[in-house]
Amino acid sequence: MELDKPDQRKTRCDTIIARLRETFPEAHCALHYADPLQLLVATILSAQCTDVRVNMVTPRLFKRFPDVQALAEAEPAEIEKIIQSTGFFRSKARAIQQTARDIIARYSGQVPQTMEELTSLRGVGRKTANVVLGNAFGKNCGIVVDTHVGRIARRLELSQHTDPEKVEKDLMRLVPQHLWALFSHLLIAHGRTYCTARNPRCVDCPISSPCPSAPILSEASRVRGAKTGQRAGKRKAGRRVMPKKRAHR
Ligand code: SF4
Repeated sequence: MELDKPDQRKTRCDTIIARLRETFPEAHCALHYADPLQLLVATILSAQCTDVRVNMVTPRLFKRFPDVQALAEAEPAEIEKIIQSTGFFRSKARAIQQTARDIIARYSGQVPQTMEELTSLRGVGRKTANVVLGNAFGKNCGIVVDTHVGRIARRLELSQHTDPEKVEKDLMRLVPQHLWALFSHLLIAHGRTYCTARNPRCVDCPISSPCPSAPILSEASRVRGAKTGQRAGKRKAGRRVMPKKRAHR
């Protein structure tokens, strides 16, 4: 894939941001939390899991373990039982507990507020740190690149990389820094509503004009729709024929 010139890409990106802000004025972090620690824990749980599912387990988890000390001293099996439905529950329980212990041992029980400190915690990677910094502390230190953001950045040809950290670097060059946290929320909302992984709704997409993939994916979606229609038609026809055959027996 050959990208357009950086200044053209920047102009496209500005248009994309403006339209997405109009389309999703309420875009925000979907995880429920009351303080930075809760957001950190919820983000660890959100790996390979939906935010909706995480929000179903965290009220019980936070009630049972209301602070960092309680998490650090918890029986791992008890954490595991509560978070089981989020998947990878053993490694997530271990990450939550190790993180809580590190916060107590090295940061006096307070969630640190820099990228370097956050990523020094066992169980916290750059993506998780970006979520916490951008949402709990209002600090735009980077851009969260999850599967939605990575996929849409490539479709929009804002990046050609698959490595999330490389995608993030490309996006940081294009998006104004004060919008970094918001930008992720906008792309995630867009990815859930229009630019879905399998059947993107390019035809009624609000950013189809600055999207280089629109002509290709709209055509693919049209062909897929036509085939699905044909298959459904055949199935319907088949269903109509069956009772007649049985009636002749
Ligand atoms: S036009 Fe299609 S591929 Fe491009 S952003 Fe919109 S839904 Fe995604």
